[in-house]
Amino acid sequence: MKILVINCGSSSLKYQLIDMDNESVLAKGLCERIGIEGSMLTHKPTGKDKYVVEKSMPDHKVAVQMVMDALVDPEHGVIAGTDEISAVGHRVLHGGQYYSDSIIVNDDVKKVIRDCFDLGPLHNPANLIGIEACEAAMPGVPNVAVFDTAFGQSMPKKAYLYAIPYEYYEKYSIRRYGFHGTSHRFVSGEVLKFAGLDPEKGKVIVCHLGNGASISASIGGKCVDTSMGLTPLEGLVMGTRSGDVDPAVLQFICNKENKTVNEMLDILNKKSGLLGISGISSDCRDVQNAQAEGNERADMAIKSFEYRIIKYIGAYVAAMNGVDAIAFTAGIGENDAMIRKDVCDSLAYLGISIDDEANKVRGERKMISTADSKVKVMIMPTDEELAIARETLELVK
Ligand code: ADP
Repeated sequence: MKILVINCGSSSLKYQLIDMDNESVLAKGLCERIGIEGSMLTHKPTGKDKYVVEKSMPDHKVAVQMVMDALVDPEHGVIAGTDEISAVGHRVLHGGQYYSDSIIVNDDVKKVIRDCFDLGPLHNPANLIGIEACEAAMPGVPNVAVFDTAFGQSMPKKAYLYAIPYEYYEKYSIRRYGFHGTSHRFVSGEVLKFAGLDPEKGKVIVCHLGNGASISASIGGKCVDTSMGLTPLEGLVMGTRSGDVDPAVLQFICNKENKTVNEMLDILNKKSGLLGISGISSDCRDVQNAQAEGNERADMAIKSFEYRIIKYIGAYVAAMNGVDAIAFTAGIGENDAMIRKDVCDSLAYLGISIDDEANKVRGERKMISTADSKVKVMIMPTDEELAIARETLELVK
């Protein structure tokens, strides 16, 4: 069975066609600048050359059609006809409090995605457009919505409630939702198996460290806490996001610099984090290169990034009254041995010890703790597309 995975942004569309018989990627690609001048599709069939089509894409409907054309193209395609696609799995950012699992799209689901536009103003409208474009291009083929917030829905109320007047929770559903949920669910599930933990009781902390970064605590694969909040801004220091700050910082800077709240949020989302502290780059590798050359702000950016992770791990060990396994995933988590080592060295009080030789690997599923470490520590590559395809398959098979 072949499943198409779609991730729509406001002006982009990423896709992968996965053969679920052996979970292999047949082709993947990206439509860029949808609705903007200079739009193009880059299609990469596995084992064949990249194929680029520069053509106007006024909307996502046209983009989906171009993806279909590329997939069945006699030279660059990977299937004979679109009828080989059994289902489409869509990454949807926000499902509010409605969905704790993926679901086959119908009118009710579309209404919920629409009702959550306020909560995910940049992504949810694009996600819905992507679903409707697929409905139009492939009538009768089921579409599945896989929500980034679904994993966080199992958090207990004490973990998701903000200590602000309760009426805001009641009126507007203001609460912690958590994001990167598809990745956290996938990785924590794989960790339970890989580390041989009790599938019902295993306590796992997943550090998803990419450009966006978040951390989750789960017991038996069910999320009990996670660092991102109402929006992805809360929690860890990220590439360009501040993570946790005292909200009074906003008011102070707004007053001093004559800025609006919206402008301040833009600064906290796009100009803060590693970029904000270092003044160099949002990319961890650039900041580390500057750190190696003795740049003090770059050094402080990396140290703050690590320190926040260490604090959250400590908090989540306390929240779960213990931890069996800690996993590192995403660009930094999978590749950066130094950050993993620095974080784990600060967790010696948990009886954690790292095998420096094992920790040298990149992007590979690997146990990196020593045999006598009291907590298992591992690298567990995330694969959000495969996770979406698996959840889609579960619902349509
Ligand atoms: P996102 O999906 O959130 O955009 P990624 O998971 O791709 O982000 O992670 C991007 C981050 O991973 C960047 O900060 C980048 O520097 C870092 N990264 C990627 N590859 C490596 C590597 N080989 N070594 C260290 N860091 C890396």
